[in-house]
Amino acid sequence: MGKIKDIKFIMKEYQYEKPFHIANSISAGSKNLEVQVFLENGVVGYGEAAPSYRVNGERVETFLSLQPFVKEQLVGIDIRNYRRIFDIMDKLRCASSVKAAVQFAALDAFSEEIGAQVYQLLGGAKDEIETDKTIGIDSVENMAKEAELLFKSGFKSIKIKVGEELKKDIRVMEAIHEVSKGAKYIVDANTGYTPKEAITFAREIYARGIDINVYEQPVQAQNIEGLKLVRYNSPFPVAADESARTRYDVLRLIKEDAVDFVNIKLMKSGISDALAIVEMANTAKIQLMIGCMSESSVGINQSVQFALGTGAFAFHDLDSHLMLLEDKFRGKFLQDGPKIKAK
Ligand code: MN
Repeated sequence: MGKIKDIKFIMKEYQYEKPFHIANSISAGSKNLEVQVFLENGVVGYGEAAPSYRVNGERVETFLSLQPFVKEQLVGIDIRNYRRIFDIMDKLRCASSVKAAVQFAALDAFSEEIGAQVYQLLGGAKDEIETDKTIGIDSVENMAKEAELLFKSGFKSIKIKVGEELKKDIRVMEAIHEVSKGAKYIVDANTGYTPKEAITFAREIYARGIDINVYEQPVQAQNIEGLKLVRYNSPFPVAADESARTRYDVLRLIKEDAVDFVNIKLMKSGISDALAIVEMANTAKIQLMIGCMSESSVGINQSVQFALGTGAFAFHDLDSHLMLLEDKFRGKFLQDGPKIKAK
């Protein structure tokens, strides 16, 4: 029988290959939580929470204290009725990444039990996706050097972190464009600009003949009016990331006509809200990308399965496992440079 017998929470620590610098934040590594869901029949499902204090207000130190509650709520539920698990975890609003990990581990266990992959439970829309790779904030020279290497090694989409120094950011874009003509650019300011700076940046880049495919979170998370102002005064599609954590955030962004794109991250939304956001975005005809926090291959697997299953994303920014040092690759997918394939 596929009833839940036990839930384990295990702390894991990962270091970045090199410190990862985004607007107003530098990380050397990440303390993540691995979630294991054990069924009575011996099947185990795996999930991972990569918390974010900056985006979700989460502290990993609090996660272990949630384990007895989660176990008490979920033990005895038949894994085939996984929506019941989703609903219980939806109420745990203090820890969205834990919600994601538990919801995914339930799907993973169910998929093992029936001999299918999670992406197939979610619809099996695609067999293959392609990820970008992210260039953190660094000197103009170093960022351009990295872009050249990435582009030459086959990454056709490059994500560029900006948002600390407007004038330098413009020089970064010029230098990167020089060495990677034909690449697609996702430019992420991580809330770093004022609306005025964000519009100036976009216009300066446009005037230089450089195209940006997604202009991510130019302004503060709470500044929905500011996002809309940038959207209507910039030639590039504007995306919400920090502004779009739950289905309710996205409902508001759609109502206010504030964005062209939403960046779904399972660590912000869990599986349940991410599914709701996919349907809302498809209905409202706004576009989607999928991103990550500091997940290892266990956590990135969650987003890979979600992206393959729903087929909902124009851009995939699933690269944290390529930046973290890990003993062993544990994703249930195949990685070949930027290409990610179903197993
Ligand atoms: Mn972002």
